[in-house]
This record gives sequence, C-alpha cells and structure tokens, in this order.
Amino acid sequence: MKNEQMIQYQVRLADPAGHRYAIRLTIPRPDPAGQSLRLPAWIPGSYLIRDFARQIETLQASSGGAPVAARKTDSHTWRCAPCTGPLTVDYQVYAWDLSVRGAHFDESHAFFNGCSLFLAAVGQEAQPCLLDLCPPAHARGWQVYTSLPSAAGHPDAAPLRGFGLYQARDYDELIDHPVEIGTPQCISFEAHGAVHDLVFTGRVPNLDLERIAADAQKICAAQIELFEPASRRAPFLDGAERYVFLVTVTGDGYGGLEHRASTALITRRADLPAQGCAAPEGYVTFLGLLSHEYFHTWNVKRIKPAAFAPYDLSRPGHTELLWVFEGFTSYYDDLMLLRAGVIDEPAYLKLVGRTLDQVLRAGGRLKQSVAESSFDAWTRYYKQDENSPNALVSYYTKGSLVALGLDLEIRRQSGGARSLDDVMRLLWRRYGRDFYQGRPRGVAEDAMPALIQAATGADVTDFIARHALGREDVPLKAALARVGIELSAQPEHTRPTLDVRTQADPAGLRLATVHEHGPAHRAGLSAGDLLIAADGLRITDAAGLDRLLDARRPGERLSLHVFRRDELRQHTVRLGKPAALRHQLQRVGGGAHGTPA
Ligand SMILES: [Zn+2]
Repeated sequence: MKNEQMIQYQVRLADPAGHRYAIRLTIPRPDPAGQSLRLPAWIPGSYLIRDFARQIETLQASSGGAPVAARKTDSHTWRCAPCTGPLTVDYQVYAWDLSVRGAHFDESHAFFNGCSLFLAAVGQEAQPCLLDLCPPAHARGWQVYTSLPSAAGHPDAAPLRGFGLYQARDYDELIDHPVEIGTPQCISFEAHGAVHDLVFTGRVPNLDLERIAADAQKICAAQIELFEPASRRAPFLDGAERYVFLVTVTGDGYGGLEHRASTALITRRADLPAQGCAAPEGYVTFLGLLSHEYFHTWNVKRIKPAAFAPYDLSRPGHTELLWVFEGFTSYYDDLMLLRAGVIDEPAYLKLVGRTLDQVLRAGGRLKQSVAESSFDAWTRYYKQDENSPNALVSYYTKGSLVALGLDLEIRRQSGGARSLDDVMRLLWRRYGRDFYQGRPRGVAEDAMPALIQAATGADVTDFIARHALGREDVPLKAALARVGIELSAQPEHTRPTLDVRTQADPAGLRLATVHEHGPAHRAGLSAGDLLIAADGLRITDAAGLDRLLDARRPGERLSLHVFRRDELRQHTVRLGKPAALRHQLQRVGGGAHGTPA
C-alpha cells in the first residue's frame, strides 16, 4: 500500500505546561456511510475500564478543507457525517497520568500508550498505519524510545531514536508499542543476538546502568533459552527490531505493563543500584518486575487466552485463565532470576516464602478460586476495597503457587523427566510462535489439563479442579519435601492480635481491614473505624498499639475506643493468638525428581 493511502496519525507535543498532545488523524478512504472513530475503553494487560476517551478535550473533523460534523454515539465513539474525500480529524488529548497505562507530558518528557492517543477508524482496524512523531518546539535534544518499527523505505522514515515516520501493520500493533520521548538515561545490550534497550526516565543520580544491563541480559537470555532452547530466537523479532524497557523512576511507584516488544515499568528510585555501591535490597524487586514483564512477551502477548484473540477493547474481556497468564508468569519471574544466576537459591526460597505469607494470610482465598478471581478481575481484583482480603484471592500470588504445585506434580508423575517448562514450550509452539504471523488463535478456557497432559504425560485434571477451579490451598509441604526442600511456618511474633490491617491517620489509627472471624470482627469493629484509645490510653500510631499489645497475652480483654464517622464507640476485644505466619523454605537434601531451579 502506498503511504498516502495509509491511515496516518500525526502527534505534536503541543502544550507541555498544559499536558496536551495535538493529534491529526488522516483516513484516506473513510466509510462512505459515515466514519466512526473509537478510542479503547481499556488497555490490554490492565483489566479495568479506563474510559481513555474522557481525556479528549476537543475534536474537529474535516474533508478537503470543509468541516465534517462529528458527534458522540457512546462514551468512546464519535461518528462523522459521510464525506467523499480523505477525512482529517484534529483532536487534543490531555495527558497527565504518570502510570504505565496512560499518557503523560510535561516540559521534562513525554510518554504515551496508543490506547490514550490513537482513535481507531472503526472497520479499518486491519489497515496498516503510519505514525508521524513531530519534534517538540519547546525542547532540544529530545529523542524517541519505542519498539515500534520505523517506516523503512519512506523518505521521512524516523532514524533510530529520531522523529519522523513509524509504521504499524494494523491498529492492534500501533497501540502495542508505548513511546517515551525526552532525554532519559539509556543502555543497550544483546541477548542471543537480539537488541534490548533499557531506558530510565526520572532523576536517578549515579544510576548503575552497567550493572542493570548485565543482570537484565542474563534474565532475558535465560527466558529465551527456556522457550527456544534450539534456535534461541527472541520472540519479538516477529515484527520488531528491538525490545525496549521503558522505566519511569519515582519516589514510591511500582508497576508494569507488558507489550509485544516492550514494557512500561514504574519503579522506586531507592530500588535501583548506584555506581560504586552495593545494590539495595529492593533491587531484586525491580529485577523481578523486569523479569515478569519480559516473560509476558511470550505468555499473554503471544500465547493468549481465546478471549483475547483478538481483544475487544470496547468492553471487558472475560477469561478464567489469568491464573495461567499472570500466575504462571509470577511463578517464572522470580524463578528466572535464580536460573539466570542473578539471585541464589536461599534468596529464591525466601521469595517463595513471602508469597506463601501473602496468600495464606487472607481468608478470601477460601471463598474465591483463582479461576473465579480471573473472571471477575474487572469488577473485583481491579476494584479492591477494605473487604477484599476477606473476599478475594489474587490470581498472581496464588496463581504462582498453583504453578509451583503443578511443576512439582508434573515432576513427580514423570519421575523428573518433565516439568512446567515443557508445558510453556508446547503452548509457545501451538499458540504463540506464529501469533503475529497469521495464526492468531488463543487457548480455550478448559484446555489446560489436556495441554499439560500433551506436553508432559501428567494427568493434572484433579489438581486443577481442586486448586485452580476450586478453592483448596496448594499442598506444597509434601511436594517440596520430595525435592529436598523443607517448608515450615512460625508466627511472625508473639504479640497477641486484633487481626486487623491499619493505616496511619493524623487523628489516630485507622482500621483499614478487619479480618473475618478475627478478634476485632467478633467484637463488632469495622473497617474505617478510627482507633483513638486502648484501655483508656491514647493510640496515635501502629507502633503505639503494638507496644500495648506486647504487654498482653492472647485471651485477655482489651477496651477500645473508636470513632465511627463522628460517633464515639466503645468495644471490648478478646485478644487472639498471633495470626500472621512467616513461611520458611530450606534445602535439606537433594531432590528425587530435580527441583524447578
Ligand atoms: Zn503480569
């Protein structure tokens, strides 16, 4: 197709102080019955309706210089009046969301996801697109960082990291390559011959780029070896020339969003290593996040649930399989740090113990399965409130324990000959490798037991029925013992408990969650109550409450004063035994069937 016949998006960095992008969309052959334009209601990988269209401030359509009427037909859609020539749509997008999901722009940098900026020409989503990135008027020296390929062969094709034309085979690809523009700190490395860029935006003095690149290189190489042990071909070479980690560094952020050849991450400044210093403890958290999103390059960006092949971005897409796509990814993220040699086995086992702490602490796991949690991600996991620990289970954390349990069960049944790795490779061959090469099919909702059997010979139907579709805890103690790892649990401390989560409040200590069946619940306390005194003594923070509880024993009664809204209430709580358990995993011998490591 000739360039002048392609749908084109021009992006201008129009107003840094006001955080506004100016977009010009040109549709060469609009629908003669009237062209509809639609922005996604959600962004793949983040399962919540975001209503990105609410940030479009103004929109004008024209054709051949004459205005074309455009009116909204739903929250995300505009319909233009019929016109004969090319349709031009100028619109302004407000971008002040420094998350991995949205768009952001000020005088220091610009970052955007296409879901926030690019209206789809409805009915023409399969058409190739051009993206014209214009250099900013207000700043010099800015460069472009994205995995979206340059419009090769075009006279205005963007040079590497430059402004100009980029291209996408279709709309789905256009919105799957976030873009960072500015003056970030950057380093590149190769893993099995494939280029990877690490791009850090935000102030980080003395950032140890070399150290991060060396560790990331090992992690990426280990993952490529897992999925493609023979060819060692990186997955993103099916359309992109490089993989890009776009990292935003803030004081207290954490999060990531996966894309087909890149990821957007947010991390804490304090979790990054500085030159000449020992890496901070939180560095493993950062590497785990990087590993997690990179694993998604295979698992969810190419191996997908059928519900996401293709995505319908106008409404929620329901699948019971996020325990596979997020849970398995959460299992492998830390495991790949171990296999890559970035952490040692005791450090890895500590991370598994921490996951067990998180999963087993909350009673919601006995009410909701990870399959149910996946299906209801849109309305429950992504809309958590004070009662969520009592009502929900995480398909990430429990999903990772299901993956560990499955891995150990496959190893047991196959006498150590097969593992979850074989399942991932089968999924990759059957669904992932050719996903963007004309074979876009996804995993059916009920396919996992048969796929695991096909990959390994192991029958895990009952295991999945109990622990993924059902709500039973994953029986890890005996399974870990078989591979030489002892699992034990001790109380976190000896202090008696109210069994609540609290949050700091200038007026006292706020009860954030009251765990069901715990002492506070039985005494009639509620989430939201403001604790101001215990046994007639003022409580101002969690440490003060802990000191008071340290002097008490389980079974004793404690008088509490709380405000519920503006009403003072008195409750008598019978203190409980320490509820929180700390799980420890320790190697005590060699395993009969080999360990996941
Ligand atoms: Zn994920």
